[in-house]
Amino acid sequence: MDEMRIPAHSIEGRTALVTGAGSGIGKATAKLLAQSGARVGLVSLTEEELEETRHEILKGGGEAFIAVADVSDPPAMERVLQQIRDQWDRLDIVVANAGINGLWAPIEEIPPEEWDRTLAVNLRGTFLTVRASLPLLKVRGGAVVIVSSVNGTRIFSNAGASAYAASKAGQAAFARMAALELAPHKIRVNTVCPGSIHTKIDDNTVRQDLEKIRPMVEFPQGNVPLTRGEPGTSGQVAELIWFLVSDASSHITGAEVFIDGGESLVQG
Ligand code: NAD
Repeated sequence: MDEMRIPAHSIEGRTALVTGAGSGIGKATAKLLAQSGARVGLVSLTEEELEETRHEILKGGGEAFIAVADVSDPPAMERVLQQIRDQWDRLDIVVANAGINGLWAPIEEIPPEEWDRTLAVNLRGTFLTVRASLPLLKVRGGAVVIVSSVNGTRIFSNAGASAYAASKAGQAAFARMAALELAPHKIRVNTVCPGSIHTKIDDNTVRQDLEKIRPMVEFPQGNVPLTRGEPGTSGQVAELIWFLVSDASSHITGAEVFIDGGESLVQG
């Protein structure tokens, strides 16, 4: 039998790329990884929010650089990776987190361009982030975490979120395909599926005519069994992501981890 050992969880000295690092889950994750000794490349849409994240990381003694890029734009993502090559010439950790809720509406009311926009940021953006990262990741192996959702994986009662749920289901399928394809390169790929988490994502959600299609359950007002309805925090999701990129999860790949206080168990 293997000798039992206390795992060394350190990610000190590793290099990480976090998309959507200007707010919410991405920001909390970037800060936690930096606090744990990783150097972090911060990607998001605006310089303003990235500067704030970087400022907080530097204040805590961490190291980070910022790259304004749209994750759905292939040349922009290639440029981000070139920046990482130039700065650190190494990449160990990728957190594909950038995402939008987009337009939530009855299917007939979703313009095809809105469908495409949601899929482009959430699904194509994930693909492009991983794709651009692979040449560097393959040098030593590493860990990828894809931020999906309970929507599209366990919850289907969120009226109007058909494009969002489809993009999140696509991310989970892509992650499993990638886990198998990249295992020989010692690259682990896992998915986290958060339930309702208190962030800014709702501020940019367009909800239209949902009363026409509302099902019998409510989200996120429905129960979160562990907290009597309170949403989770970005910090809680960041801790899970930290575990999945650290050596504490060295034998875990292709997994989907739900982080929702049990919410998806009561809302199918
Ligand atoms: P948020 O709105 O607080 O932050 C999103 C970040 O992504 C921002 O920094 C934003 O600028 C960036 N971003 C948006 N579009 C981008 C693009 N095209 N290119 C680059 N960056 C872009 O949102 P959040 O709640 O922290 O969401 C992060 C991820 O978590 C998303 O993938 C979301 O689907 C997922 N998620 C969130 C919840 C929740 O309840 N908050 C639940 C499940 C899953």
